[in-house]
Amino acid sequence: MSIITNVAKFFSPDEPTPEPQQVRHAMLDIETLGKGNNAAILSIGATIFNPFTDDIYDTFYVAVDPESCQQLGLTLDASTVMWWMDDARSIARSNMLKEERVDLPSALYGFTDWLREDMPVWGNGATFDNVIITSAFNACRLEKPWKFWNDKCYRTLKGLAPEVKLQRVGTYHNALDDAISQTKHMQAVVRHLGLKSL
Ligand SMILES: [Mg+2]
Repeated sequence: MSIITNVAKFFSPDEPTPEPQQVRHAMLDIETLGKGNNAAILSIGATIFNPFTDDIYDTFYVAVDPESCQQLGLTLDASTVMWWMDDARSIARSNMLKEERVDLPSALYGFTDWLREDMPVWGNGATFDNVIITSAFNACRLEKPWKFWNDKCYRTLKGLAPEVKLQRVGTYHNALDDAISQTKHMQAVVRHLGLKSL
């Protein structure tokens, strides 16, 4: 009897169509004190978004104490420190100096908690954000919360549609504002290219 009821319910025309399952990807942006694979991290910004719509489901930001990075063996690089000192970075720099910082393991625990599940994680460059944060997880002896095949390169993707221009929101070189700008740009690129899967 219960089976018949369920079948009838399954075919009922009055049932609302179920919501399509959310496609969830993450866009990651980190600010650092170096360019190498083991760079000390200043901040981590990220979004969880749907690349096939305009949806941004959630955002994350944490400022990291670079001394805690150094203590774990991550490195500063003089040219990047000099780059931060340039006037072009003065707004991002002075905002950054006012922020409350947490040590690297706490920042990575927070990021893992926020992400909640494995998903594609996009960074700006095949050797930058994802590689550096992977080194940071390793330095803290923490497991990176996504599989290596989910490391994705937004820089490569945007190169397929150079005619779609990035429009910045917020402060350039604030990791969250950059992650949001990159997310919106990637959604525009995906729409422009008519991509149905990634
Ligand atoms: Mg950035």
